[in-house]
Amino acid sequence: MKVYNTLTRRKEIFTPIVPNKISMYVCGPTVYDYLHIGNARPYVVFDTIRRYFEYKGFEVTYVQNFTDIDDKIIARAKAENKTTSEIAEKFIEEALIDAKNLNIEPSINPRATAVIPEMIELISTLIVKGYAYEKNGTVYFDTSKFKNYGALSRKNIDDLIAGNRISQDENKKNSTDFVLWKPYKIGEPKWESPWGFGRPGWHTECCSIVKKYLGTKIDIHAGGEDLIFPHHENEIAQSESYSGEKFVNYWLHNGFINVDNEKMSKSKGNFFTIRQIAEKFSYDVIRFFILNVHYRNPINFSDEQLEAAKTSLERIKTCLFNINFMLENLSDEPQNNLYEQCDKYVELFEKNMDDDFNTAGAIGIIFDFVRFANSNINQKSSKKFALYVSNKIILLCKILGLEFDFKNHENFDIINLIDERTEAKKNKNWQLADEIRNKLLAMGIILEDTPNRTRWKKINQ
Ligand code: AMP
Ligand code: ZN
Repeated sequence: MKVYNTLTRRKEIFTPIVPNKISMYVCGPTVYDYLHIGNARPYVVFDTIRRYFEYKGFEVTYVQNFTDIDDKIIARAKAENKTTSEIAEKFIEEALIDAKNLNIEPSINPRATAVIPEMIELISTLIVKGYAYEKNGTVYFDTSKFKNYGALSRKNIDDLIAGNRISQDENKKNSTDFVLWKPYKIGEPKWESPWGFGRPGWHTECCSIVKKYLGTKIDIHAGGEDLIFPHHENEIAQSESYSGEKFVNYWLHNGFINVDNEKMSKSKGNFFTIRQIAEKFSYDVIRFFILNVHYRNPINFSDEQLEAAKTSLERIKTCLFNINFMLENLSDEPQNNLYEQCDKYVELFEKNMDDDFNTAGAIGIIFDFVRFANSNINQKSSKKFALYVSNKIILLCKILGLEFDFKNHENFDIINLIDERTEAKKNKNWQLADEIRNKLLAMGIILEDTPNRTRWKKINQ
């Protein structure tokens, strides 16, 4: 299995620290509003990667934080005359609803404010080891002390210093130094620390959460590509200075969801919340839309793309629905030698996923499989074979977290109408039976009555 590692800018063979086990950390959202569709991308992408690892037999411990203390949360709390924790808890609840609807598997979700003592311990140790210093109640990390600073983002520290000259904070020793602890300001939440009352800087929370839940060295750390610098660079500097060992073996970053080639973000105002999109399209369409592009490539957000995703997903559902619908009338006779061909699709799916989680390629294979099913499963097929095919398609979809209820999708209306017509015929209400037949015809559905039941198909299918 190959994984693209941002640290080396190469695809590498994936080898976990402990055989068959994976420790995985994904930076979570800052909770001051509903999540937008850009935030949905890391949720869906890394949940899919986790599901694929589990399918391959790995046991994954998956941790994702909630940043529940931050300037934006403070600003919103002030504006609404609420506490920061009221704002954060409200939007954590909403984020968890979105995650559940997007079929994200549950994970360990610590809040930043739940690891304040751990952060204080980490910062204190960095001071003792000479990697951090305090000035007027603020604690800074001294980037000049960490020789690998800039290795992840491939930034040169001298260039960074040159670029930062104008906005120099006079308390800092180097312009690239970053804040670990900031002093209390009136009206803001505060915690007691050896440097007076204050609150932690953002980059420290992930280090402390990783250390507490996963240890000082982990397999995978992930997030959106905007986090490479400074957030992940600063996490490496703190964690490696603290432990003296390599922090993360594989760094994974998802590309952006853009609007008119600009990153979708709250601050730019060019965003759509997951909720807004889900009102128009379903959650499984959102998930499919995200996975239809390789996770490192940008996605251009548009209604047309979502519409296309909806139509594509419908093709899979219709195929599964039709097989399911046919099943009861199929014979039990063993049939044909096409089983091997089905296994080939599974192999090809895995080949794509093994190549840095190429979900776009893997979805392409599902469509090949659907085409195969549409042309090879008919009234003459054996039940066993039809079940084999549909179960394999369902399995591949499930690995991608697509667990739609195909028995209940839009064709359900058709089935209901057919049932009503059968009932009408039973009651010799021929007029109603004809009306229903015509109604279905107007919907593009033709009926064929057989001794056992009524079959239907779409015109031109
Ligand atoms: P934030 O709340 O801004 O820290 O974002 C939470 C997660 O969503 C981080 O992993 C970000 O990198 C990611 N993210 C934010 N905006 C986008 C976007 N437009 N496209 C893809 N990922 C994003
Ligand atoms: Zn983080």
